[in-house]
Amino acid sequence: MTTTLMTYAGPVDDRAPVTRTGGVPLVPAGFTWPQCAECAGPMQFLAQVPADAPGAQGAEAAEHVLSVFMCQNDPGLCDEWDPVAGGNRALVFPRAGLAPAPVPEEGETLLPETCGVDRTAVDAVSYSEARDRWAQASGRPVRDVLGGLGGAPAWLQGDETPVCPSCARAMSFVAQFEEGRDEGTAMNFGGGGCGYAFACVPCAEGAFLWQS
Ligand SMILES: [Zn+2]
Ligand SMILES: [Zn+2]
Repeated sequence: MTTTLMTYAGPVDDRAPVTRTGGVPLVPAGFTWPQCAECAGPMQFLAQVPADAPGAQGAEAAEHVLSVFMCQNDPGLCDEWDPVAGGNRALVFPRAGLAPAPVPEEGETLLPETCGVDRTAVDAVSYSEARDRWAQASGRPVRDVLGGLGGAPAWLQGDETPVCPSCARAMSFVAQFEEGRDEGTAMNFGGGGCGYAFACVPCAEGAFLWQS
C-alpha cells in the first residue's frame, strides 16, 4: 500500500500558489475572513491543500483547494477541535482565479512560519509506519513529516468522519496534519495531536477537526 506523506520542503513565499502550511490563504473574490462562532475573533489560517485527487501525482493541478482555518484567539476555549461548533473552518475553493486574502489587522491570523510541502509516496501498511520509514530512509527528523494526503485517516481516537451538511454523504478525506516541525511555529492540536481535513467537492463543503 502506498501512503502519500506531506514532507517539509523548506520555506516558501507566504503567498505562493502551492500546497503549504502557514502564509496567507489564496482566496476567491468576495472572500470574507472566517470568524470564530465562539469568540467572534478572526480565525488563524493553517494550510491549503489540493481538495480533489489529493494523493495523485501532479495534484498541484487539482481543480479545487481546501483551505483550513482555526481559532487561536483563546486556545482551548473555542471548541476548535470540533467539526461543527464553529471554532474552525475548512473552505473549498475553485483553484482558478485565487489571490492572496487581505489579512485582518487584529487577532491571531497567521502562523509564524510558511512551510512548503513535498508529496512523498512511501510503501507502508499505515500512515505511522510510513512516517517512520521515511524518517529512517531520509535521515531526517520524523517531525519533518507535516502530515498525509489522501488515503485513509490515521485516527488517534475513534473514527469521526464528518457527514456533508448538503448531501448527507460521508465526506472525502483530504489530509491529515501533524502540528508541525518546530514547536515555536507549530499548529495547536492539543499538544501532539493531529488535524483531519475533509471535503465534499461537488457540494463545495469542507470540514476540519482534531484529536489528541
Ligand atoms: Zn474563538
Ligand atoms: Zn455533499
